[in-house]
Amino acid sequence: MGTPSAGEWITDPGGEGFAHTYRVEAMLHDSRSAFQRIQVIENKDFGRMLILDDAVQTTERDEFIYHELLSHVPILSHPSPGRLLIIGGGDGGLLREALRHPLTHATIVEIDGDVVEVTRRLIPSIPGKAFDDPRTRLLVDDGIRFVRETSEAFDVALVDSTDPKGPSLVLFTTEFYGYLARVMGSQGVLAVQSGSPIYQQDVIALVRGNMAPHFRFVRTYLGMVPTYPGVLWTFTVGSQTRDPAALDESELSRRMAGIATRYYTVPAHRHLFTFPPFLSEVTTG
Ligand code: SAM
Repeated sequence: MGTPSAGEWITDPGGEGFAHTYRVEAMLHDSRSAFQRIQVIENKDFGRMLILDDAVQTTERDEFIYHELLSHVPILSHPSPGRLLIIGGGDGGLLREALRHPLTHATIVEIDGDVVEVTRRLIPSIPGKAFDDPRTRLLVDDGIRFVRETSEAFDVALVDSTDPKGPSLVLFTTEFYGYLARVMGSQGVLAVQSGSPIYQQDVIALVRGNMAPHFRFVRTYLGMVPTYPGVLWTFTVGSQTRDPAALDESELSRRMAGIATRYYTVPAHRHLFTFPPFLSEVTTG
């Protein structure tokens, strides 16, 4: 498809029968990397938006919701996290949010260096200074190759991938989760984005089924991302020693002291794991 120009609309397909559309105020970038099409547009309602292969990844207006949910819940589920591993997440928003915790080290393994370069240049508010943080190590590599071959140890792993197709497909496999469980040891915590509870229940079941052999606790929690088709979005966390849905609130308050958030709150933490009845089958599969 050609490059849309200002005033035209672009479409992000959701399930088979619906989509979200956005008017392009300005097309800031449109290229094809070795892995995917990379676009950045200016939009009146959501500001600058990163789009990969026609799917909205993150926007200036609502990125904080996704990044707060995929960082604070798993990091707080580990008793004393030091070393963090992020797979994917080339826009840097998750790294930025996670580094607000007193971590000692953060490795981010992103397969497409162009995503990092384009986001840092055109949407700098999303990564902020995260890539320049002395704790950060950026590796441009396939996430599964890194975890299969590394001898390093990590405490928490976050998988901020695109949907399960193309280069991301391997990041939803039980092999991949097994490699992660190996590098994280006895107290490891893993969290991934697990898709829409409305039209991707198969993805949620896949993630839960593939995590279960490797983690004692597997919990799915619910959030909302206005620019993801269907808005409601899920995350799934695997933990070896602590139940992420039953953490002590006073400990959470102590560890979140000084970390101001705009979506995640300690009083709402355990309710994130409570699904409305019409979605309850999502968390039992
Ligand atoms: N929040 C977004 C979402 O839920 O759709 C994801 C954002 S982030 C930009 C997704 C990143 O995962 C992309 O930059 C993509 O290049 C990266 N990615 C996909 N497959 C990968 C792999 N096998 N190893 C490492 N990174 C990968």
